[in-house]
Amino acid sequence: METIEKLKILSQDSQYDLACACGTTKEDRRRRGLDGKWLYPVTLPQGGYSILLKTLLSNHCLSDCKYCPLRAENNIIRCSLQPEELAKIFIEYVIKNKVAGIFLSSGVIGSADNTMDKINSTAKIIREKYKYKGYIHLKIIPGASDAAIEESLSLANTVSLNIETPGQNRLKKLSLNKNYLNDIIRPLKLISKLIEEKFAHKKVKCTTQFIVGASDETDSEIINYTFNLYNKLRLQRVYFSAYQKGLGDSSIPAEQKDINPHALLNREHRLYQVDFLIRKYNFKFQDIIFESNGNLSLDKDPKLTWAEQHPEFFPVNINKADKWTLLRIPGIGPKTAELILKNRRYRNFSCYEELGLNRNNTEKIKKFVIFS
Ligand code: SF4
Repeated sequence: METIEKLKILSQDSQYDLACACGTTKEDRRRRGLDGKWLYPVTLPQGGYSILLKTLLSNHCLSDCKYCPLRAENNIIRCSLQPEELAKIFIEYVIKNKVAGIFLSSGVIGSADNTMDKINSTAKIIREKYKYKGYIHLKIIPGASDAAIEESLSLANTVSLNIETPGQNRLKKLSLNKNYLNDIIRPLKLISKLIEEKFAHKKVKCTTQFIVGASDETDSEIINYTFNLYNKLRLQRVYFSAYQKGLGDSSIPAEQKDINPHALLNREHRLYQVDFLIRKYNFKFQDIIFESNGNLSLDKDPKLTWAEQHPEFFPVNINKADKWTLLRIPGIGPKTAELILKNRRYRNFSCYEELGLNRNNTEKIKKFVIFS
């Protein structure tokens, strides 16, 4: 198979992994890669926007993850790129100024460390032979050895290891091959430690991803884990990927329960809203309101749900409130809050129109604010 033909297949198969920030919104999902195939617009974990070449090294996989179309038992066209082959094609894109980085993942080829060896070799060629100093995001394969992880961290700007489910009992429903504590949690802890102690000067980032709707998990479980990933392991970003019906084994919950794929995408969207509340609005776990089934409301955004259940907090005086209080008002985001605080140094606000919100957000805040 020609290199370009393989790249087309492997890039297509990498689309289910969102841990590089491509495809985190419903709009992104509809967007194709810029090149029609493997060049993806992304928001980098450390901020800023870029175009990445996003691909797998191989879609061969010996693992059995029921939600994944690459699982060993699935009959698909399999192929691999060699490290030198991929490094060369990536550098050609860099020279043409078409990409500003690479996201490199892979199915499990033989063993976790054999795969890591190929991933790290590719990055090494890019760094050492081609003297590339730009952005490299490497996937850490579950079960990778400490030495392989350390080598990845020495080569990459960002690494990611997908946690997949909140807890080992959930993962057991999806894979007999992966050991949750040893293959996922242990390496995540090691990455966190190495980033803090050995690679602090490099400012390496680590991200992860949950698969949503495949193991009967609740949003409450996912969000509880998300808080711990941010607070205890200091991950840079947590991503959520709604399980896409028809890709996995017929025994997994989202297949059995005839869940509407749009409802699952909506669930993913609500999880991203909560993630935003955690990272930018200082929301705590107890501030997130779940329905009796442990999930977020699909009908209402989680910030509005919190506000409606906390009438004692409102109305907020726009001219007196601090940043965190302003951020609790539905319709006011971090940028608006900053702007309000900045302008308040010179004057007081006297009406909604002066806040510079769009019509939708102006309507939203009316129930929750006063001006004096
Ligand atoms: S390890 Fe699991 S999720 Fe990763 S490629 Fe293989 S089957 Fe898919």
